[in-house]
Amino acid sequence: MLIEVSNIPPEGLHVALPAEELDLGNSAGLWEGPASVRAELYLGRSGRGLLIGGTFVGDVALICSRCLESFRFQAQDRFDLYCALGPQAQEGEERELAVDELDVTYIEEGRIDTDHLLRENVLLGLPVQPVCREDCRGLCSRCGANLNLGSCGCQDPHLDPRLTILRKLR
Ligand SMILES: [Zn+2]
Ligand SMILES: [Zn+2]
Repeated sequence: MLIEVSNIPPEGLHVALPAEELDLGNSAGLWEGPASVRAELYLGRSGRGLLIGGTFVGDVALICSRCLESFRFQAQDRFDLYCALGPQAQEGEERELAVDELDVTYIEEGRIDTDHLLRENVLLGLPVQPVCREDCRGLCSRCGANLNLGSCGCQDPHLDPRLTILRKLR
């Protein structure tokens, strides 16, 4: 959704965004497919700047850093941002100019791109090393089997290595 900054009334604006698919961009193997994100935003004017507050709940298919299986992760957070709109914003073109000078990615040509804003905040809320569960056993370093599904036998503690050597000799 695009919101014209110049359309934000002095008393502010509340925007409810229903759950929608949100492309999170290049995943680098951290997640699969688009997220489903719903959010509530508040946009307000403060002095010469813009206040942007919001809460969001996002459902993302993350890829476990240990076993490489995907799992549902709920990203949920709130954010409060302040953008200075630069020198005294005037009516018309000068206001557009002031907004364009901003060094933020989610405002372009005087419009707030809510997808872009949410994407940044959802990404900030993702774990750096996601795990499907705290006790995920990961993959066997020898054969690559998913150890959550059972032991592959490579590191069976009941098998005495000396016995294994004897068996190989036979
Ligand atoms: Zn896992
Ligand atoms: Zn194994």
